[in-house]
Amino acid sequence: MQGIALKLRQHAGWPAETDVEKYADWVVILPFEARRGVRFPSADLLYQRRARLGRKEPDTEPFITELPNENGTRVAFASIKPRLGQFELLTLARKLVAVPVRNKAEKFAVAVAGFPARECERIAEAVIAAAYAAAAQMPSFKSKGDDKPRLRAVELFGVRAPHGFGRTAAEAEGNAIARQLSLLPSNMLTPADYLKAIRRIARENHWKLEFHDMKSLAHMKAGAFLAVAQGSPTADAGIVRLRYQPRGGGQRGAAKVALVGKGICFDTGGVNLKTARTMYNMHQDMQGSAVALGTLLALTKLNYRHPAEAWLALAMNHIGPKSYKPNDVIAACDGTTIEVIDTDAEGRMVLADTLALASRGKPGLIIDFATLTGACVHALGRAYSGIFTNREDLVPRLVRNGRTSGERVWPFPMDADYDEALRSDIADVKQCSTESGTDQILAARFLQRFVKNDVPWVHIDLSAARSKNGLAHIPTETTGFGVRYAVSLLLDGLADS
Ligand SMILES: [Zn+2]
Repeated sequence: MQGIALKLRQHAGWPAETDVEKYADWVVILPFEARRGVRFPSADLLYQRRARLGRKEPDTEPFITELPNENGTRVAFASIKPRLGQFELLTLARKLVAVPVRNKAEKFAVAVAGFPARECERIAEAVIAAAYAAAAQMPSFKSKGDDKPRLRAVELFGVRAPHGFGRTAAEAEGNAIARQLSLLPSNMLTPADYLKAIRRIARENHWKLEFHDMKSLAHMKAGAFLAVAQGSPTADAGIVRLRYQPRGGGQRGAAKVALVGKGICFDTGGVNLKTARTMYNMHQDMQGSAVALGTLLALTKLNYRHPAEAWLALAMNHIGPKSYKPNDVIAACDGTTIEVIDTDAEGRMVLADTLALASRGKPGLIIDFATLTGACVHALGRAYSGIFTNREDLVPRLVRNGRTSGERVWPFPMDADYDEALRSDIADVKQCSTESGTDQILAARFLQRFVKNDVPWVHIDLSAARSKNGLAHIPTETTGFGVRYAVSLLLDGLADS
């Protein structure tokens, strides 16, 4: 894993003609209308050339042109309306930043002008977020050459924020680590490899680490987790608990936050084996745990005022003589007996015990992340993730934070009558239903049973974990969706209420 080596320099003043010429690549964002106060030297030329192309609407794609100076300065230009939605703004920022990145630029300059100061800062933030996302190195095992981005620096003109966009950088670091881990194939990221990587990250960030291996989980009677893990030839599965304490003690009496993540390093489906098409990319079935880890990393870098924990359920879902089977009856660590229906619904099995353990310590809030159901993808597509909670009054806030962070979520109902589909003749509950088309809701209803002590709980079904051509500011198909969203939720005080 590698941090992001991107330097950001802020220039309070406006670029002079000579500044413009100094940089080979510019990203320029100016207003669609009301151009008063636009102090970018070549603004008139940019507007003229754009108009000549017949662009009559605000831009959703960059307009690329070269300025008539010695350097042939290349500009990726967009003229937009103020108060553009955060998702749309981040999407445009990704496309603008892609221009210098495609050209192997090591640095580019940004100018945002002609909007009210706070709006200029919001637009600049989107470009910086996109720059960090593009500069993050993703794993590549090509033996010859590399097509990695070389972006090292961004020079920002027209905005000078005293915070230096530290939150954007922290979110980007957390997102990058989530994407890097998710992209590693399962022959390089077994549960044992994953644990090793987590140990290193924990050391760097002064987190306490506990690992509940299969032996200790057997002692804790975590049968739901072990049912999945027992199919592996190597007994390297387990549940990691990481603990963060704010420097200086944080806010007095602040409630603990628990982040829980599904970490299935490869999901074959088990005995209910997946087909080729649906098995491809199943090395990323651990993305939920990587997002929980990335969120804890971002919170640590921001010295979040609350103590926080991450609970990561690391296992493989293998097929083999010891694999669990449909109709097996299994007891979770809280004593709940589960009738297994489909071994491919392994995520809710490992999370059942993990949620029960995480909620034993009575945290003030649990957020779990999981690439859990195909049904959620069918319902929402891959540009939104599904949200579920045992506190219905939180729903408007959860949705609003999706809008403002640019990582959009949509809620599903959690009414108790959905449980009828999970009624079992032989055990306390069925793992899932063979009939219902609402598996994302049934999975959430199933998980809720294991959240103990009535802890407020938010479950995120990561249908947006992979999205072709990237999503919002993220340029890779693997999105790391959830880090920016969860940081936004927590810094906006969700754990304070
Ligand atoms: Zn599965």
